Amino acid sequence: MAKNSQNSRKIHRMEKFSSNSELEQEAIQFLQMCIQTDTVNPPGNEVQLAKKIQEVFDNEENPLIQTKIIETKPGRGNLIVDIRGSDPETSDSWGFGSHLDVVPIENAKNWNYPPFSGKVVELEHDRFIWGRGAFDMKNTGTAFTIAILALLREGFQPKGNIKLIFEADEERGGEEGMAILVDQYWDEIKVDCFITEGGGFKLPIGGDFTIQVGEKGKCQTKIECEGVAGHGSTPGDYNKFAIYKLMDILENIRKWKPEIYMIDEYKQLVNALSLPGIFKFLLKRKSIIRPLLSVISKRTGDPFDKFLMPIITDTISPTIVKSGSKVNVISPHAELSLDIRVLPGHNQDFIYNKLEKIIGSELFKELKLSPIDETASTTSPINTKYYHSIGETLEEIYPGGNLVPLFDVGGTDMKHVRKRNIPCYGFSLLLKDPDLTYDELGSLAHAPNERISVNNLMISTEFAYRLMKKV
Ligand SMILES: [Zn+2]
Repeated sequence: MAKNSQNSRKIHRMEKFSSNSELEQEAIQFLQMCIQTDTVNPPGNEVQLAKKIQEVFDNEENPLIQTKIIETKPGRGNLIVDIRGSDPETSDSWGFGSHLDVVPIENAKNWNYPPFSGKVVELEHDRFIWGRGAFDMKNTGTAFTIAILALLREGFQPKGNIKLIFEADEERGGEEGMAILVDQYWDEIKVDCFITEGGGFKLPIGGDFTIQVGEKGKCQTKIECEGVAGHGSTPGDYNKFAIYKLMDILENIRKWKPEIYMIDEYKQLVNALSLPGIFKFLLKRKSIIRPLLSVISKRTGDPFDKFLMPIITDTISPTIVKSGSKVNVISPHAELSLDIRVLPGHNQDFIYNKLEKIIGSELFKELKLSPIDETASTTSPINTKYYHSIGETLEEIYPGGNLVPLFDVGGTDMKHVRKRNIPCYGFSLLLKDPDLTYDELGSLAHAPNERISVNNLMISTEFAYRLMKKV
């Protein structure tokens, strides 16, 4: 098998995680089992997969392992695998979280191989395991599982407790999964730090790898507007149509140029990048950042602007438009859903004031706004021993590896766990496969042909192994 990317060659791999090793076989089979168990959310029905994974751990018959399934709602199974430490009173306990659910398949015809097959496909650079969840994030759950099993079979016992938490409902916000675990079952899942998805990706700069340390909040909102009712044959004044009012709103949002906020999380990210000082200085200049990112993106072919601009702006994306039901009836009602993602400290009042300015006060006063999902932005500090342990482990496996704290524009279950004031980081080691662009990599998670290379699966497994060994 050819692994001819520059990045792959830099990875230090242990013999037991090498190509065609027994652990590799086991990892592939475990991931296939996870992909073949349909946990599309809705409805999720994660309990069926939770039970299968529980069986894998119970079959080890290791007295250090305790497993428990918590159904946060009927069928919404969460599996807690508790590895008892030798000195949990004085040592920190680490949580390794992965969500069991996956997003729906839009159209199975767009997939080269069936989305629940877990088929292993040989491509030019590597073998790939195909299927929904292969990248988000049954791969990471596999890495955590195989890593701890390998350690336990070697007679390893951590000093602190290690908890593997397989959670339900992350893809729909975690309200029926992690939110309930954190609220009502904290004693069961209590840890001192929590590692999950959202980072670990190799950036196209030096030895830089992202680690998710914070995420934007949400202020998703439905806007309703009213207009005249009537027959399509006698329209009268178009300005009074609910549909045209909605069009004005959409047009204003399209023309809106979002304000830039050089938030601390962004500066922290830029400071950590392996770039010459002059570049970092320029990347923190509010007045030139927009054209600068657009030039860099055009030059490199990697979409820096698409990924970095949302870190320094609130974003408003119109996603659903509804009005009318009959071709000859002028509907007096129209509605619009906005996916609004907010920076730290930007609450609903702040955003609705902004919307009023964008839409114009006169029209804004006529509208009914209802929040769909309001979630505050969350951040974890980077000056913790846990963060440093992750950095040391990266350095072992990828010499010269450098952590870049990423403020994520999307959301993960860390938003719930951070409520308990424990540091949470998104990190699962991953290189860019040579056949993908960064843009493709960024959207692989919820797209057709979701897949993971065997190489990446084993790199993240080895990373988890080395990190867990430090607990
Ligand atoms: Zn995910």
